[in-house]
Amino acid sequence: MRAIRRLMVRTVLPEPLAALGDLVTNLRWSWHQPTQELFSAVDPGLWDEVGHDPVRLLGEVTPERLAELAADPAFLGLVRATHDDLQNYLTEARWYQDADGRAPAGIAYFSPEFGITHVLPQYSGGLGILAGDHLKAASDLGVPIIGVGLLYRHGYFVQSLSREGWQQERYPVVDPDNLPLVRLREQDSRPAQITVGMPGGRTLTAAIWLAHVGRVPLLLLDSYIEDNGPAEREVTDRLYGGSREHRLLQEMLLGVGGVRAVRAYCRITGTPAPEVFHTNEGHAGFLGLERIRELVEERGLTYEAALEFTRAGTVFTTHTPVPAGIDRFPVDLVQRYFGGDNASGGLPIEQILALGGEDYEGGDPAVFNMAVMGLRLAARANGVSTLHGEVSRGMFAGLWPSFDEREVPIGSITNGVHAPTWVAPEFLRLEEKAIAGGGWKSATTTVSDRDIWTTKRQLRERLVDGARARLRASWEGRGASEAELGWIDDALDPDILTVGFARRVPSYKRLTLMLRDPDRLKALLLHPERPVQIVIAGKAHPADDGGKRLIQEMVRFADDPEVRHRIVFLPDYGIGMAQELYPGCDVWLNNPLRPYEACGTSGMKAALNAGLNLSIRDGWWDEWFDGTNGWDIPSAEGVADPDHRDDLEATAMYELFENEVAPRFYDVDADDIPRRWVEMLRHTLTSLGPRVQATRMVREYVDQLYRPAAVSSRALNADFHGAASLADWKERVREAWPQVGVDHVESTTVDTFERGQTLRLHAFVSLGPLTPGDVDVQVVHGPVDDNDTLREPAATAMAVSEEYGDGRCRFDGEVHLDRTGAFGYTVRIVPRHELLGDGAELGLAALPG
Ligand SMILES: *Cc1c(COP(=O)(O)O)cnc(C)c1O
Repeated sequence: MRAIRRLMVRTVLPEPLAALGDLVTNLRWSWHQPTQELFSAVDPGLWDEVGHDPVRLLGEVTPERLAELAADPAFLGLVRATHDDLQNYLTEARWYQDADGRAPAGIAYFSPEFGITHVLPQYSGGLGILAGDHLKAASDLGVPIIGVGLLYRHGYFVQSLSREGWQQERYPVVDPDNLPLVRLREQDSRPAQITVGMPGGRTLTAAIWLAHVGRVPLLLLDSYIEDNGPAEREVTDRLYGGSREHRLLQEMLLGVGGVRAVRAYCRITGTPAPEVFHTNEGHAGFLGLERIRELVEERGLTYEAALEFTRAGTVFTTHTPVPAGIDRFPVDLVQRYFGGDNASGGLPIEQILALGGEDYEGGDPAVFNMAVMGLRLAARANGVSTLHGEVSRGMFAGLWPSFDEREVPIGSITNGVHAPTWVAPEFLRLEEKAIAGGGWKSATTTVSDRDIWTTKRQLRERLVDGARARLRASWEGRGASEAELGWIDDALDPDILTVGFARRVPSYKRLTLMLRDPDRLKALLLHPERPVQIVIAGKAHPADDGGKRLIQEMVRFADDPEVRHRIVFLPDYGIGMAQELYPGCDVWLNNPLRPYEACGTSGMKAALNAGLNLSIRDGWWDEWFDGTNGWDIPSAEGVADPDHRDDLEATAMYELFENEVAPRFYDVDADDIPRRWVEMLRHTLTSLGPRVQATRMVREYVDQLYRPAAVSSRALNADFHGAASLADWKERVREAWPQVGVDHVESTTVDTFERGQTLRLHAFVSLGPLTPGDVDVQVVHGPVDDNDTLREPAATAMAVSEEYGDGRCRFDGEVHLDRTGAFGYTVRIVPRHELLGDGAELGLAALPG
């Protein structure tokens, strides 16, 4: 029988316990151990039963128990103290409140996924976890961020295994009424909604759910509402599923609808409008189109001026060098959704298509590229590690053809992780006790070897217990009978060197590299004195059969009775499992195909839990491996045959385990402590501890991107006069550019060049209708290769010395010859304007001949 109506019956908390409700709806509990302990005290057995989900806890606790607690002065005191602590956390001045007045009044942060806690399954992997950590660190620092995302009614998927080891996917319904979310409501308490126009006169409407991530509001758009037709209702069905068209609809809702949700939130709560909009990967890029539309239709700007203003206040972060990770839509699909009867007056479809067009060498004219649009709609862009910044500059260099790769305006900020979320409470306590003295350095020197080592043993044991339970559940799901599962009680061992490998399963991460030589791996696992055990987890994208085959290969190996007590695959990797896994592992293994791992963050979490990284030098590890804080697997990059490359890298990995890792781990003294291993842990904590934190990352975003973006958008904002004049100037420069050129260059004549000399140059240039103030004339110089190509060119400005009329001028400059060897130079003209973010911004440069 089906019910005709569905109601949510909520627990009514007795008045003395009302504060518990606030503690549940603010997600600070997810990284605040004392609040979790308070929840546990409500009913310890039930707390475990409901999987540490406080909403379910309060939903299922008996009224008798609540009445008992409401009369317990000790419990009430604890509730009050925890609630006061939260109120302080939410209101006291923090780092940002000391920042100068140039910092933005608000920042809107858009992401297709957010990984905040295991009870909000709205993420698939690293991108979402990073977004969650970004919001949490922003909250800790007092940064006024508003998060914007979608609420997927089936989240990502729940992973299990078939008997044969094939990945199975389940999509349980996520009911927002059972989540720590509240509806955003208008003052008259009607639910707030936003709409996005669709072709054919239809509309897509979404409700707005609000999660409180400490001080940071997170707005989640939800299309499952009665006002929508059946098709529109399905838009927020699941994360990263469905057709291209479905994906486009999700991204329209996220980008366009997201801006409208931010406007509604600010209006209802009286929050200042964000001055900066940050798009975490290209998926939310349509937010720029909506901001342009607002300025044209509501403020009367021209399209060009609106584009300038939008660009100035937008930050774009690219997250992957893997082409498949970049969203590309057929041009006609974008045309159908943003053109025709759904076109908006202020935003001609031709302009939109131009923004995402791959109109560069090697581009595909039939494709609309979200990353390309992201770069064109944001004056500031970055990759997520130093190496990834470099790789991204190469990848997108086609957009700036007149410039050297190094000059491509994409910088980098290396990712970080939110320590209170990821560090085991036992370690946090150890570290806090010692940190009270003064910083990481002291923390890692004053804690004794014994304390570190016994804590690590404890955490390894917890991992082993948890892994056995997961293994048992997995085997039961695979159809094994209880009688077959006795071996699980002895699977894994809390005193054996424990290696972790858990992450999504795209091919570049090479889940199965360790299986390259199965006998050698077996020998490692079964070594009589120095055995190794490996815990593995990871989900393959539901449409990725290649990834599922890798999982199956891994599972089959781990099913072998000879090794199954030493190597396990745990299904359904997620935040909850990750929080057990990192602290329990001694070594965190990462073997991606360099340079496809843009940053990688799981190794950072392992490091903060006194785990040692053993990794290919890719992403963050390329930057911060220092020779003694872990191990690097030498990359065989450049070996063209992928099989041969895998062989070389796998062999190097086995050798490290055999010759360095295992011998050091088992080299214990009379007190049973491996001193040299603990020494490496200490060094890992001191060298990486402060750097891998998300607070360091968010401070860099504020200082390097958010503040400069706010400053330049304010400069354009005096009645938008600045934006209009910058747009006019750009148009004038683009029109004049064919007349701009370097006519000829003279240098001081010397016969021999010696190091230490200065070369004086005169450049005779034509500027057409432009003035010397509109341009930078530069000497571009540096070492040259055999083809006279400048390697690592540097640019030095020249100064105007004479004007001859008709736009012809002479510029003078100098180059200091500060190194020996083949050297070359050229002269280049680029546009210059005080409001222009970067010399390469227009992509225009004039060179001799
Ligand atoms: C940290 C984390 C990731 C990201 O791991 P990478 O090493 O960056 O791939 C993915 N999933 C979960 C659950 C995580 O905690």
